[in-house]
Amino acid sequence: MTATMIDGKAFAARVRGLVQAQVARLQAERGLRPGLAVVLVGEDPASQVYVRNKHASTVEVGMNSYEHRLPADTSEADLLALVNSLNADPKVHGILVQLPLPKHLNSELIINTIDPAKDVDGFHISNVGLLGTGQKSMVPCTPLGCLMMLRDCLGALAGLNAVVVGRSNIVGKPMAQLLLGDSCTVTIAHSKTRDLAAVCRGADILVAAVGRPEMITGDMVKPGATVIDVGINRIERDGKTRLVGDVHYASAAVVAGAITPVPGGVGPMTIACLLANALTACCRANGLPEPAGLTA
Ligand code: NDP
Repeated sequence: MTATMIDGKAFAARVRGLVQAQVARLQAERGLRPGLAVVLVGEDPASQVYVRNKHASTVEVGMNSYEHRLPADTSEADLLALVNSLNADPKVHGILVQLPLPKHLNSELIINTIDPAKDVDGFHISNVGLLGTGQKSMVPCTPLGCLMMLRDCLGALAGLNAVVVGRSNIVGKPMAQLLLGDSCTVTIAHSKTRDLAAVCRGADILVAAVGRPEMITGDMVKPGATVIDVGINRIERDGKTRLVGDVHYASAAVVAGAITPVPGGVGPMTIACLLANALTACCRANGLPEPAGLTA
C-alpha cells in the first residue's frame, strides 16, 4: 500500500480562505474587524521568524495585527502591565505571548494573566480545564489543526483507536483530549511506555509529537492507519540541513493509509488555526455564532 499524502499546506490555505471570507463578512455586516496582538520579548531568532509569519498571515486574512516587541530585559511587572492593557482593549480579540520567554520571566504567570477568552494559544489554565471537561474553550492551535485534518480525511472518528506519542501540555495532552472528545479510544504514550512499537501498531490514528527524528518507523504502523507527524526536527544529512518529522516517512508511507509529510503537513496548519482561533474569539466576544468548521 502507498499512503495518501495529507497536504497540510493546501488544507491550511483552505482554512485561511475560510477565515478571510468570514472576516470580510464581519466587516461588511457588522463593521467588526478581528484583532490579534502578538507579544515578543527578546531576540530569539526562531521566535522572530514565527512572529513575522504570524503578522503577515494575520494581515493577509484582513485582521488587525498588533505587534509588541519588547527588549530581553523587560521586567515581569512591565510585561504583566502590557498583557493587562491588551486584556482591556476591545480592539484586541486574541493575545499571543510568544514562547519561550527569557528565563527571568514566569511563563505560567504571564500566560495565566491573559484573559482566557482572548487566549488564542489555548494555554491558559482555564482553557486547559475547559477542554479537559469537554466544555467550550480556546483550543491549542497545533492539535486543533491535527483534528481538522483527521476529520477531513476520515470523517467521523468515533470508535477508532488513537495513539498519541508525547504528553506535552502544548501538543500531546490537548491532542488526546480532542480525540477523546470525538469519541476515539485514546492511548497516550511517552518515554516510559513499554513496547511502544506494539502500542503504536494498535492505532487506527497515530499522532507523533515527540521531537525525535524519524523514531516512528513503518514496522510500528498498523496497515491502513492515518499517521499525523507533528515533529519538526533539523538534522544533517548528505552535508545538508534537512527538516524531518518524528515519523520515518519512507517506511511508514508504504504501510499507512494516509500520512502527513514534514515539512508541509501539520506545520502550516498551526498558523491557520491561530487565525481561526482569533476569529472565534472575536465572534464569541460579540455574541455572534462561531465560524463553522473552524473550531473543535
Ligand atoms: P516535548 O519535548 O514537550 O514533549 C515530547 C514528548 O515526547 C514527551 O512527552 C516525552 O515523554 C515524549 N518522548 C520523548 N522521547 C520518547 C520516546 N523515546 N518514546 C516515547 N515518547 C517519548 O515536545 P513538544 O510536544 O513541544 O513537541 C513535540 C514535537 O512537535 C517537536 O518536534 C516539536 O518541534 C514539534 N512541534 C511542532 C509544532 C508544529 O506546528 N508542527 C508545534 C509544536 C511542536 P516524557 O513526558 O516521558 O518525557
